[in-house]
This record gives sequence, structure tokens and C-alpha cells, in this order.
Amino acid sequence: MKVFKFGGASVKDHHGVINLFKIIKLLKVENTLIVVSAMGKTTNAFEKVVNAYFNDLDQISFFIDEIKKMHFKLIENLFKDIDEELKSKLGKIFYELNNFISSNKNMNYSYVYDQIVSNGELLSTIIIHNYLKNNGLKNSWLDSRICIKTDSYFRDSNLDWTETEKKINTHVDKNSITVTQGFIGSDSKNNTTTLGREGSDYSAAIFAYALNAKSVTIWKDVPGVLNGDPRIFRDLILLNKISYREAIELAFYGASVIHPKTLQPLQRKEIPLFVKSFEDPLKEGTSVSKGISINPNVPCYILKSNQVLLKMSSKDFSFIVEENISEIFSLLHKYQMKVELIQNSAISFSVCVNNKYGRLEELNSVLKLKYKLKVYNNVELYTIRHFNKESIKLLNNFKGKKILEQRTEKIYQVVKA
Ligand code: ADP
Ligand code: ASP
Ligand code: MG
Repeated sequence: MKVFKFGGASVKDHHGVINLFKIIKLLKVENTLIVVSAMGKTTNAFEKVVNAYFNDLDQISFFIDEIKKMHFKLIENLFKDIDEELKSKLGKIFYELNNFISSNKNMNYSYVYDQIVSNGELLSTIIIHNYLKNNGLKNSWLDSRICIKTDSYFRDSNLDWTETEKKINTHVDKNSITVTQGFIGSDSKNNTTTLGREGSDYSAAIFAYALNAKSVTIWKDVPGVLNGDPRIFRDLILLNKISYREAIELAFYGASVIHPKTLQPLQRKEIPLFVKSFEDPLKEGTSVSKGISINPNVPCYILKSNQVLLKMSSKDFSFIVEENISEIFSLLHKYQMKVELIQNSAISFSVCVNNKYGRLEELNSVLKLKYKLKVYNNVELYTIRHFNKESIKLLNNFKGKKILEQRTEKIYQVVKA
């Protein structure tokens, strides 16, 4: 059994769905679980619905209608004759969404978010399942919420591995083609949960782990894993082969081509991961597996933008000692800051964080009581893995003033404001 994962970019329009079908045919795919994301930017569109739910209820039907129109337009382009069954399945999703919106009493933002945003994956997989079937490719549609069991930490839920493994092995037929959703799961009360933005790669890895799959292939709009993000860096090189360890490190520092949680389950069972181009399916792409660390061995560039650098020093010039650091860390944890980089000296402590949950002001007001605090908003954190002199020089050409620099044996990092 194999696992394929098609991301939002690969199915952003009807051409994408046709291309997905062509890849399946070309590779003579059988016994495969196909994990699919929401189409194009649908998840962002559903986030607007969530925001309207909390802030501007009058606008909500406008945003839902946009999504509905987009999907119905797509199926018009995709099918010569749209069968009524497909229309009614899609219609049911919108009917249930509206039902939820008018009857929900739980105003927890993250809970509401998951109930609404998860519809993107349901819509895309219903369309793809039907399109494959209409074109003679026998496949079944699976609601991945039956299989992916999580806790109730909405928007970033944690997997219940034991339950999930059991469910996957009960519900996935290993001898046929199944189409299912990435990103979504359910908690013990069967409320819909999600695994965090871009979580579909992780879903593919979870299924692969439970099924003891032979491999996972994720189909992207790039030739594979490059030594930098092509939206930011130039003259990049394709990494033909990287180890799990290397891929985990790259993902950890922010290489957004693979979701960071994807690698561990695959590594544990030594399931190879292929990252390939959906535009060029016969090209090799990148293979992530056991063995050789990185080939070719080149510096890898990663940018995390929109970070915040906090510089703290004691008000009376006393040393920053373990006790202070421990207190600072517990505050960072309390206010849900993701720590990207730390640096300390005798009287100061700097930390670069990602204000993912928007609680920076709360944190700062507490820190200010005790420390002299300098806040640099909207800074960029560059990382080079396997750096050399030339690669550092290259970063100097990027805009911004260097405000913090740090290097270890393999990693060079610089914060620019
Ligand atoms: P999808 O959600 O469709 O699966 P993503 O948008 O999450 O795909 O990932 C593909 C994108 O990742 C590429 O378009 C590219 O801009 C970006 N990216 C970031 N870092 C890298 C990298 N090192 N190599 C290749 N692509 C990268
Ligand atoms: N659709 C979700 C997102 O856009 C999950 C994914 O695509 O991986 O974040
Ligand atoms: Mg994505």
C-alpha cells in the first residue's frame, strides 16, 4: 500500500483535478490512499467565514457564497454532465454549515474554527472522488474524521495514536484506492478537530504509519525540496536525497515545503517520503529516507518572517541568571509564544518569537514589570543550514539591519529588522 498526498496548489482549479487523475493513470496507481487538501486557498476563505462569525455576522453569507460559487464553478468546468448526486452532496455540506452557524452555542473560537474550516477538505475530496469514479477509476471516499482521532485542542490537536491506528486499520481497505481528507480529525466526542495549518502532509504520514505503507509521495508545485524557498531565494538547487534527520531539521527551522510533524512517524517506520512535482510526475524529485544526510551537500536557506525579537535586561544591571531565564520561559509558554531563537549575555536575554496566538501585548506587559524591555516587531529570521562564507555574504544582500547573529557548527542565524 502507498500513500499519495495532493496539496491545495495541486487542486486549485479543474485543471488540477484533471491532472491528479492523469498522474494516477500514468503511474498505474492501485492500492493507494490519496490524501487531499482543500482546493487552492479555500482554507483561507473559510477563515474569513470564521472571522465574520465572530465579528461581522452580516457578512457571513457573502463569504460562504464565494466558496460555494467557486466549487460549483469548478465542477461545471470539470464535468460534462454534473450528476445530481454530486450536487446534492456538496449542497449538504453547505446546508450543514449554515445549520451549525445558526444553532451553535459554543463560542470558543478554536472550536468554531475547526467546525467551519474543515469543510474545505470535505468539499475537495467529494469532488475528486466523484471525478475519478466518473472517469472509470474505482475508488472509495473516506471521512478521515472516523480514523484520525485526536484530543480536543482545537486548531492544533494532538493525535491519539492508539485509537487512530486501530481505526485506520479497520476502515481503510488496503486493496483498493481510497480518497480521503488531510488536515481534519475528530475528538473523543466526535467534534471535528484540525491538525494545524498545512497539516495535510502530517495526515498522510499518520495514515502511512498506521498502514505500514511502502512510501508516501507528496505532490507539490516545486520539483522537490530545494535548498531554499523559490518565492524568496534565487538560483536554487534540487536536493535529490536527504535523510529524515536533515528534513526534520529543515522543517524545524521553517522550510515550509514539508509540515514539521510529517517526518517523525515516517522515520520511526523507515517509510520513504518522496516530494515530487505534480507538473512533472515522472521526474525523480526529492527522496527523504534513511542514510545519506544531504545530496548535493549545499547550504540551505530558510526565512521566517513576521517574527518578534524581545530584548530584556535587568533594571538594575544585575545579571540575568537561571532563575530569570526560567521565569521568562514559563511566561513565554503561558502566553503561547513559539520560541525560535535565544541568546543571552551577562545582563541581557534576547528571544525571537512567533506571536502565533496574538498574545504578545499581554506578555510584554508582564515582562515590563520586571525587565527593561525592547521590542522589535516584524523582524525576519534567516537561517542557513550547512552555511559557508559565501552563503552568509548572500544574506547580507537581503534588506534589513542585522540586530542579532548566532552560529553553531551547522547553523547560522541572523535576525534582521
Ligand atoms: P501544498 O500545500 O500545495 O502541499 P505548500 O504550498 O505547502 O504546498 O508547499 C509548496 C511550497 O513550499 C512551494 O510552492 C514553495 O514556495 C514552498 N517552499 C518553501 N521552502 C521550500 C523548499 N526548501 N523547497 C521547495 N519549496 C519550498
Ligand atoms: N487546507 C489546510 C491548509 O490550507 C491543510 C493543508 O493544506 O495542508 O492549511
Ligand atoms: Mg499547503
